Amino acid sequence: MLRRAGPSLRHFLLEGKASAGYSSYSSEAKMSKPVQARRLEGIDKNIWVEFVKLAATYSTVNLGQGFPDFPPPDFLKEALVKALSGENHMLHQYTRAFGHPPLVKILAQFFGKLLERDLDPMTNVMVTVGAYQALFCCFQAFIDEGDEVIIIEPFFDCYEPMVKMAGGMPVFVPLRPKAPKDGKLMSSADWQLDPAELASKFSERTKAIVLNSPNNPLGKVFSRGELELIADLCVKHDVLCISDEVYEWLVYDGKEHIRIASLRGMWDRTVIIGSAGKTFSATGWKVGWTVGPNRLLQHLRTVHQNSVYHCATVAQEAVAQGFQRELRLYGKPESYFVQLPKELQQKRDWLVQSLDAVGMKPIIPEGTYFLVADISQFKSDVPDVPDSDEPYDSRFAKWMVKNKGLAAIPLSAFYCGAHKNNYNHFIRFCFAKEEATLKAANDILQKWKQEKTSP
Ligand code: PMP
Repeated sequence: MLRRAGPSLRHFLLEGKASAGYSSYSSEAKMSKPVQARRLEGIDKNIWVEFVKLAATYSTVNLGQGFPDFPPPDFLKEALVKALSGENHMLHQYTRAFGHPPLVKILAQFFGKLLERDLDPMTNVMVTVGAYQALFCCFQAFIDEGDEVIIIEPFFDCYEPMVKMAGGMPVFVPLRPKAPKDGKLMSSADWQLDPAELASKFSERTKAIVLNSPNNPLGKVFSRGELELIADLCVKHDVLCISDEVYEWLVYDGKEHIRIASLRGMWDRTVIIGSAGKTFSATGWKVGWTVGPNRLLQHLRTVHQNSVYHCATVAQEAVAQGFQRELRLYGKPESYFVQLPKELQQKRDWLVQSLDAVGMKPIIPEGTYFLVADISQFKSDVPDVPDSDEPYDSRFAKWMVKNKGLAAIPLSAFYCGAHKNNYNHFIRFCFAKEEATLKAANDILQKWKQEKTSP
């Protein structure tokens, strides 16, 4: 072997011309083939990349991207520290590909209790890198070229590009706002599906519907009646339901989060998606999960084993400990799943008051940690540019972060291209923030209001 390598090395060292030729060849060797796969066409822009950068550059108060600026609960942090520095050094190594056994076991127990059905931890649960990867697995596993996927607007923006990357066709149906009576503030419950319009979107080509309740960005918590309407259509047209329930614990005013998988005929056709990031206020950990029948999850496992394969073991271990605690304290006042919504409801109410006081009309969310507000009364501050391609709310949010230091996300980012300009006078705030952050936001809004009213 060595003798055979000799001549070619000598050749390389002695043949000056050849080696010079090689280097000039390599420096000029630009590719002429198109490098971008067709599936990426038209999906290269991402609202978060753009607005996160703007917030980092200009904001003094960031109510834009959806993450808490307060820490996760102590019991969760302690569980992570223990997993990291405890005696079980195997927690630093790979674990089971489809979910660390303690985590899938407790998730099966927990969701089995909620859904009132026996769940097998090995086949009815799969752990993912955040809810994002769970969504990605669903679209890759179920959607073929030309399949239609119904998406309810406004929607968490990644659904559309993920459907397209899988070769599918998103079909949009909007929640339609109804004006509230007696000059009351609008609630997210006032945004409803038109049953006939929804039914008209189902066809032979429909493979799945994406449901997100509680909904980001509106905070709408779908009622039993609304879920039954969707469920009946899914059963009638033999359609799958991808149910993004990452905000399942964040519901207010005594509202109940109803799992569509618990409705008649739905378990067999639904994948439930959850997120430890939202559940335990630890979005940076990126632990998510899917729960559903093996006949669906087996295909998610195929995508997972051929892409990500595995999620961080220590984070899974700590989340498992978190769920064990929550199962013990289920429904009790000490439970984090009871305490967190209580605290967030108070924060929601502060932000509602503060926005209402300056005339940025809030739509009161029934769930999530987001709140959408109407900016119509502020239009004079950011003059319209009639022929601009950019929706007004997007220009408004950019102007606001640059001139007032307050970051928020335009609602049009949660609509598809064709509908962006129909809902372009709202912005979304995140209220999972420390009191000091919400107070600082209130100060900015108050000062702004004074500048507007003073001659
Ligand atoms: N679904 C919705 C509706 C979300 O709002 C988010 C996060 N903003 C996700 C999924 C992704 O969650 P994760 O951080 O666990 O990937």
